[in-house]
Amino acid sequence: MTDYSWPDGKKSAFCFTIDLDAHAPWLWATRNDTPKSLGQIELRRFGLRQGMDRILALLKRFEIPATFFVPAVIADDHPDVLPGLVEAGHEVALHGYFHELVADVSDGEFTEALERSIALFVAQTGQRPMGFRSPAWEMTRHMLAEVKRHGFYDSSLMGFDHPYTIDGVTELPVQWTTDDAIYFKFYGGGQDGWAPSPPGPVGEGWYDEWRVLDREGQMFMLTIHDWISGRAQRIAMLERLLERVRAEGDPWFAKACEIAAHHERAHAGDFVVEAAHPAAISARTKSPI
Ligand SMILES: [Zn+2]
Repeated sequence: MTDYSWPDGKKSAFCFTIDLDAHAPWLWATRNDTPKSLGQIELRRFGLRQGMDRILALLKRFEIPATFFVPAVIADDHPDVLPGLVEAGHEVALHGYFHELVADVSDGEFTEALERSIALFVAQTGQRPMGFRSPAWEMTRHMLAEVKRHGFYDSSLMGFDHPYTIDGVTELPVQWTTDDAIYFKFYGGGQDGWAPSPPGPVGEGWYDEWRVLDREGQMFMLTIHDWISGRAQRIAMLERLLERVRAEGDPWFAKACEIAAHHERAHAGDFVVEAAHPAAISARTKSPI
């Protein structure tokens, strides 16, 4: 099904990632109009207070190395977080400064936020981060060029079910179906218009996704959030998933930086694409059928 190969005779890869957003998106969303209500910020602060302990215990129990994408403002507010994750053997990578959304910032502001984030990571861990994931998973050609300039991998786009190269950047693709937020992100107070999914069917869907990707030799990219999947019933859902994966398969559990390094070593010239250029897109969409 795919010509993608993995190290050590492994049939497929499993990349466990956590977008440690905590209260950063709330800070960004309320930057011009600070609300007096406390519900949403408390809901999000649960992640660092309790959710993370559960997630870290789960990773330890299953001996899984993970990658945490952390908005710099969270590291700035909690200076023990990045060093603690590195100490536990996990990777920390970039995820915006304030979790600023692509549509809300200029190219120059993106570059400034990226450079401020890198400086903070280096100051707190003594190491340069190796990867970037865009808040809300949107990218531009400028962002790809900046990620390339710093020599980072990116993990924000969805063009394959295994790593690829776009505009010279190693891309570790994500996808919405294996992101906990689309099923469980729920603020309450009549703001959502829907109820969060029960974890059973979501866990079944993730298992099916893994089963087929494993059979095809691809990469299963899981994305969870501290304040969403740190809740007890979702930890139970993840436990069941990992028990089944371990019982039925033997994927390469690897940090995103390890998978990016493998791609650059073993597949440097494979699956290379160019980002669509706006001028080319508009020429095509304006041409008569
Ligand atoms: Zn995020």
